[in-house]
Amino acid sequence: MNFSLLEIEEILKLQEEGRVKPQEVWDFFQRRIQHWEPRVNAFITLVKDLKGNGVAVGVKDNITVKGLPTTCASKILRNYIAPYSATAWDRLEARGFSLAGKTNLDEFAMGSSTEKSCFGPTRNPWDLERTPGGSSGGSAAAVAAGMVKFALGSDTGGSVRQPASFCGVVGFKPTYGRISRFGLVAFASSLDQIGIISNNVQDAAYVFSIIAGEDPRDSTTSSRPVPKFQDMFGGEGGSFTFAYPGEEVLGRAEEEVRREFVEFIKLAEKIGGRGKEIPMTLLEYAIEAYYIVTNAEASSNLARYDGVRYGTRQEAETLLEMYLRTRTSGFDDEVKRRILTGGFVLSRGFYDDYYGKAVAYRKRLASFMEELFSEVDFLLLPTTPHVAFKIGERQDPIEMYMEDFFTVFVNLAGLPAISIPWKLLGKGLPIGFQIVSRWYNEIGMFHIAERLERAIDFKNKLILKEV
Ligand code: GLN
Repeated sequence: MNFSLLEIEEILKLQEEGRVKPQEVWDFFQRRIQHWEPRVNAFITLVKDLKGNGVAVGVKDNITVKGLPTTCASKILRNYIAPYSATAWDRLEARGFSLAGKTNLDEFAMGSSTEKSCFGPTRNPWDLERTPGGSSGGSAAAVAAGMVKFALGSDTGGSVRQPASFCGVVGFKPTYGRISRFGLVAFASSLDQIGIISNNVQDAAYVFSIIAGEDPRDSTTSSRPVPKFQDMFGGEGGSFTFAYPGEEVLGRAEEEVRREFVEFIKLAEKIGGRGKEIPMTLLEYAIEAYYIVTNAEASSNLARYDGVRYGTRQEAETLLEMYLRTRTSGFDDEVKRRILTGGFVLSRGFYDDYYGKAVAYRKRLASFMEELFSEVDFLLLPTTPHVAFKIGERQDPIEMYMEDFFTVFVNLAGLPAISIPWKLLGKGLPIGFQIVSRWYNEIGMFHIAERLERAIDFKNKLILKEV
């Protein structure tokens, strides 16, 4: 049986009815790992033994699992063993899911390609010369190649949705505060959220219904009740309204993607949507604001890696010397660049020019979105400006930052969003489109995403061949 083609719920049902054994399910995913992992390098740590229901799960290596390494793909945490599990994983484990491994990422989730890992780059299973996107590239590649049924990632500025688009899978990011960040290594705390990567929308909703909800160990989690999975789907379509941006935003995408996006809009209209173009010139500054806010927060969050409390230490004569040696050799260039810029934008004399402005921008963006979602139900737009790029192709950091244009504003505003696969474009590579919704409307978003997914008919069709 090809378990890649079934939904999580279907696999669990087969088990309940005694028609398949957990071991059978597990062995299926293990075979896929044996075949794909040497080519793709999606994992940092693999778990060989079955514990649980056999439905294999990947967990990004910046999310803790008790007793296993959590490296964040950084030399500085190379030997760090997590003493506790993240709430999200705790809840999955309690439901019987089986960990297949910890997945590769850009160091501390900073990047858009999964090339910046001290364990080497992850490759895109659709084309091994290309990146899977990032920073949750290991999770996306693992799901795309059928090595796991679903995976957890983290999304601070698009790290779940962008790799999902590049790998032809579903990538979901909840409203800020929906899923506990307890056990997620902090990058930019006011934007970080754990997200879900899966083969289809229903699976994302299923996992969401398990891991979301208030957690006393993360005071930013919301106490709102989490919708039950059973209530999320079914029932007839119904009409809905949506907005899409104009040339000022779509102009950032490549021609081919823009052409396809027009088709996507048409399809949304065909299934009952009423769309209208709303200019979003405000998004022009999203990248700048995002990189100011996240670098500022990262510079503070990463101060804890000092050779004393966590991970590796480089011995030296004096304490200061030890800090310096530990941090200069433990972090790689991109992380150092962000710590330095983060310190700079927060420093006296520059704070108002940079950090203060970015924070003001964030407020304006939130009110713009509030107004937008008082007029329409959803916002549709591309997830990525193009299909997956080649490994090594983006050397300039600014060019890499530009990759995130369509995703970062969502995190700055704390909104929920989902990227669903559209089709294979010219080079035989997948691309996804994004649905953004108002705060806490995950249920409505899943519903529309599932209807679109059905109309698109990518679901279960283009998963890589059986091995
Ligand atoms: N690519 C973005 C960055 O480099 C997003 C990262 C993320 O979402 N973790 O910051």
